[in-house]
Amino acid sequence: MYIIHNHIVDYPDTNVLDIGTDEKETDDVPLFSTGIHPKLIDNTFTQKFQIVKHLASLPNCAAIGECGIDVFSSATVAEQKETFIQHLHLAQQYSKPVIIHCVRAYSEIISALNATRFSLPVVMHSYNGNLQTTEQLLRRGNIYFSFSDKILAPNCAAQKSLEIIPLSRILIETDNSSSPLGPIITLIANKKRVGEEEVIMSNNQVFEQVIMNYEL
Ligand SMILES: [Zn+2]
Repeated sequence: MYIIHNHIVDYPDTNVLDIGTDEKETDDVPLFSTGIHPKLIDNTFTQKFQIVKHLASLPNCAAIGECGIDVFSSATVAEQKETFIQHLHLAQQYSKPVIIHCVRAYSEIISALNATRFSLPVVMHSYNGNLQTTEQLLRRGNIYFSFSDKILAPNCAAQKSLEIIPLSRILIETDNSSSPLGPIITLIANKKRVGEEEVIMSNNQVFEQVIMNYEL
C-alpha cells in the first residue's frame, strides 16, 4: 500500500517520508517531503528554509510539507501564513504537490492558496475538517484529504465529512503512528459503502495521481 504521509523511518510500505529539514534522511529513502511544521516556526525559520529549498530540488523530493497554520503554534497566524506562502511558492517552482497541516485555520489556508493561485495537488493531511469546511475545500478542485488514525476518535468532525468526499479524493496515512492502518480502512469502507480492497486500490491510484512525477 502507498502512504502519502509518514514520519516513521524504515516504514515497510512505499511512502513519502516527512523529513522536515533533516538532510541526512534523504539518502536511503525512495520518496520524501520537506517543509517546516507550523509549530516549529521560530526565529531560525529563514535559516532552516534554506535547507528546505535545497532538499526541494532533489530528485526524490516528492512533495513540499508538511507546512501550514496551527493556532497552537507559538508563532502568530500572520507569521505562519507568510511562511506557508513561501512553501507554496517553492512547490510552484518545482511543480510539486503540497502536504498541509491545518488546525483551526482553514479560512487562512484557503486564502493563501487563492492568493498564490495554487493549482498543483493539495493534500490536507490528518484531515479533521467539518462538513462546511469540506464543501468549501472540495469546490477548489485538485484537493485531496488524507486520513490518519485521528479519524477513529468518536467525536472526530471528519467522520461526517467522509460522507461527502469522493473516494477519488481520499488518501490514507500513518502520520507519526505505528498502529496498523486496518481500522482506518474499515471506517472509510463503511462510510463510502465499498469493500476494503477497493479503498486500498483507490488510495494507491490517488497516490500515483498526486505524486505523478514518479515511477513506483
Ligand atoms: Zn505529520
